[in-house]
Amino acid sequence: MSTEIGELIQAAHGGDWSPLLKAASLESERHWAENAQCLGADPEIFSPLSDGPREIPETVRRFQGISLNRPLNFCASCPVAVAARCLVESLRLNDEYGIRAGMLASERSPLRHAWQRRFDEEAVSAVLRGVPVTVNEGERAEVISRLAGDPTLNADHIARGLGIPRKYVWQLVRDHKKSSPPVASASGADVA
Ligand code: SF4
Repeated sequence: MSTEIGELIQAAHGGDWSPLLKAASLESERHWAENAQCLGADPEIFSPLSDGPREIPETVRRFQGISLNRPLNFCASCPVAVAARCLVESLRLNDEYGIRAGMLASERSPLRHAWQRRFDEEAVSAVLRGVPVTVNEGERAEVISRLAGDPTLNADHIARGLGIPRKYVWQLVRDHKKSSPPVASASGADVA
C-alpha cells in the first residue's frame, strides 16, 4: 500500500471519510478501472483462498506468504485516485472478498462496517441539490425518504446526485412508501 492511500484509509478509520472520497472523486466513476495498475492482471491473485471478511489478517498473511506480493505490489503502484476509487467502490458494493487498495478482505472488514454505519448529512444535502456524491445505503434511504415526504424536492436533481435514472428514483420512492407503515392520525384513522 502506498503511504498516500494509507493516510486516506487511516483518516477514514478515524471517522473522517472526506479525504478518501475526495481522492476517489478525481477518477471517473465509469472509467476509473481503465487506469488501474491491475488492468489485465489475473483477477484470481486478488482473491487469496484463505482470506475473507471473518478471517484474521495476520493469519492470512502468514498462510499466504509471498503469494501476496504480486497483488499487493500492483496496489502499491496504483495511482492514488484509482486506488481510492477502487476502495470506495468496494465499500459501496459491500464487497466482502478480494484485495482492494492494498487491503486484504479481512483487513477491509472493519472499514466496511464503518462505511455502512456512516451518516453524512452533508452528503445527503448534496444529493438533494443534484451534486453527485458517493453515499451508503443509509444515506440513500434518507434521500428517498425525504423525497417521499416532500413534494417540493426535485427528482431530477436527486437522480443526478445518486447517479441513477429518474424512473428508478420513483421506483425507490414507491418501494419506500410500501415498506413504511402509514402514520396514524389523532382520531386513530390512518393518514395516507
Ligand atoms: S488498488 Fe489494487 S485492486 Fe484496486 S485497481 Fe489498483 S491495483 Fe487494482
